[in-house]
Amino acid sequence: MSYSFFIDTERCTACRACQVACKQWHDLPAEKTQNWGTFQNPPDLSFMTYKLVRMKEEVIDGKLRWLFLPEQCRHCIEPPCLETADDPQAIYKDEKTGAVIFTANTKNLDANEIIESCPYNIPRKAADGTLAKCDMCNDRVTNGLLPACVQTCPTGAMNFGEREDMLSLADQRLAQVRKKYSKAQLVDSDDVNVIYLITAAPSDYHRNLMAAAGVHGFTRQMALKKMMRPFG
Ligand code: SF4
Ligand code: SF4
Ligand code: SF4
Repeated sequence: MSYSFFIDTERCTACRACQVACKQWHDLPAEKTQNWGTFQNPPDLSFMTYKLVRMKEEVIDGKLRWLFLPEQCRHCIEPPCLETADDPQAIYKDEKTGAVIFTANTKNLDANEIIESCPYNIPRKAADGTLAKCDMCNDRVTNGLLPACVQTCPTGAMNFGEREDMLSLADQRLAQVRKKYSKAQLVDSDDVNVIYLITAAPSDYHRNLMAAAGVHGFTRQMALKKMMRPFG
């Protein structure tokens, strides 16, 4: 069994309660930022920002639309970061929940190699080389609580539960949302445990929202590592 998120962007108002809740639960400091012409703040994920509500304005079919994307690690079913690290002391998967966890031992890895292996450009590096990202609030989940971002979302955009239930909710919402937005789709739902419902093209939200064709699950680094492993 594994757990999944279903993130229904059609219901997201960009209130950023999820972003703040993530900081609070992980005791992460705020970041110094400046106005760069958008409400999106800070500008990007970082070693101390695991969740970021991305905001874009796009003209789609002649109408101005605001597109909101509460972004986080996708907890991939076959995580390229984990395969690339090949070190369970540094990156491992909790098989009970499906959470992909980075430990302090990530500082012993080749950080750039791990970052490049991620099809969604999620891991971020601290000054000492340690890598960090969303951990699915695995401490909360293994104690029967919802992830902090899901617990706090006031609109029903963030959902969390057993994978089969989330897939079924996602399919149900997709059918409803398609009546209004014909381009609505679920993103990479077979490959990840964070399933986004979007109402426009993936690239309208963010360049890394969808894994590039052929990239997910098997990167160049993984191929090289596999070739160099001893037999047996
Ligand atoms: Fe969107 Fe919910 Fe996050 Fe608010 S808390 S930004 S509605 S996902
Ligand atoms: Fe790893 Fe990136 Fe997948 Fe997260 S999204 S599990 S960091 S490969
Ligand atoms: Fe942050 Fe936890 Fe939500 Fe991940 S699951 S984005 S760590 S609050």
